Amino acid sequence: MTIPIVRLKPKEERRILSGHLWVFSNEIAGIEGAPAVGDVVSVRKHGGVQIGYGFYNPQTLIAVRLFSKEYVEPDKLFFTSRITSALELRETLFHAPFYRLVHSESDFLPGLTIERFGTLFSVQILSAAMERRKDIIYDCLREMFDPAAIYERNEGSSRELEGLPPAREIVFGEERTVDYDENGVTFRINPLSGQKTGFYFDQRLNRIFSREFADHSSVLDLFSNEGGFALNLARAGSEKIVAVDSSQQAINNLLLNSELNGFKNVQGIVADVNSFLAKASASGEKYDVVVSDPPSFTKNRKSVPAAKAGYRHLHETIFSVLKKGGILLTASCSHHIFRETFEEVIATAAERAGRTLQLLHRAGASPDHPVLPGMPETEYLKFNVYRVF
Ligand code: SAH
Repeated sequence: MTIPIVRLKPKEERRILSGHLWVFSNEIAGIEGAPAVGDVVSVRKHGGVQIGYGFYNPQTLIAVRLFSKEYVEPDKLFFTSRITSALELRETLFHAPFYRLVHSESDFLPGLTIERFGTLFSVQILSAAMERRKDIIYDCLREMFDPAAIYERNEGSSRELEGLPPAREIVFGEERTVDYDENGVTFRINPLSGQKTGFYFDQRLNRIFSREFADHSSVLDLFSNEGGFALNLARAGSEKIVAVDSSQQAINNLLLNSELNGFKNVQGIVADVNSFLAKASASGEKYDVVVSDPPSFTKNRKSVPAAKAGYRHLHETIFSVLKKGGILLTASCSHHIFRETFEEVIATAAERAGRTLQLLHRAGASPDHPVLPGMPETEYLKFNVYRVF
């Protein structure tokens, strides 16, 4: 079998040798053979030295997604071994089988995300190569876990870039909910219809940390989704919790979760955060703790200036409803906004609002979302905690 060769332009191997897993189309000097979408290619330095193997896609800016330094056939054995390695990490980290099982490039399975909710699995496929091999992946999951159901949550916008249609479907089993216990808080999760791939596991440790500030506090949870932060804070002793999300379904589920846990002090509001904050600020509402966890403000580098303006405005209005000495827990999941930028924007917003900040804590995503040090794109979540005077 001859494997097609992708030869890089001079010096373009440097990023890859330091651990990056993408080859961009403009870094390629030439191709030998005729690889089709999703085929395995051998990536070589300009001089011919072999540096890795990856999946090819001539239709995207990311032309090759590397998955191995040595040649390995991406068959069932390969997927079983990679998923087993990912599983070993999660079993070390967590007692219960609820986590992100596979985090794409970070688990050396580019374009594949798998969430595990006990015996329910939700899969997101964002590359053409994985799409082609998805039946092998489902076979592996069935053999390894004997799942009750597998769902496909293929709604990401990056699928379009790979030329793949959106899809949300049941691969097998039926639509079901499952109760997940996060440190004594029950969340009823529907992996087929919940947002994203069902639940935001990436904020798990940050939600636990947020509890430090619960003590009798009044809390405003902005972009609350189904209550991740709100309900952790309620469990830890906050007195009054207001949760705001623009999705009716998210707030319905938040209220259901709140009831499941017997909380009487959680109020759910369906509203756009900006309009909610404008009103709250005008009527002089003040909170001890504000959590802000918005969706990504940018999908590409071009929209970074607009995203920065968005974050600045958001934080300026947040400061207007935060008590003196209050706590701000604020997140950004925009890939293209680096931590320094995020912190600068928050500092500018504070200056404009005439507030003084103490930075208490910096964190990222929970460790079932590993980061590859050589690949900054694998680090997306920034989570900072401030005391605000
Ligand atoms: N903090 C949550 C996850 C938040 S995800 C947790 O820990 O589980 C981001 C949420 O923002 C989504 O639920 C989405 O519905 C909501 N959202 C997006 N745009 C919004 C807007 N303009 N106003 C209010 N909510 C919004």
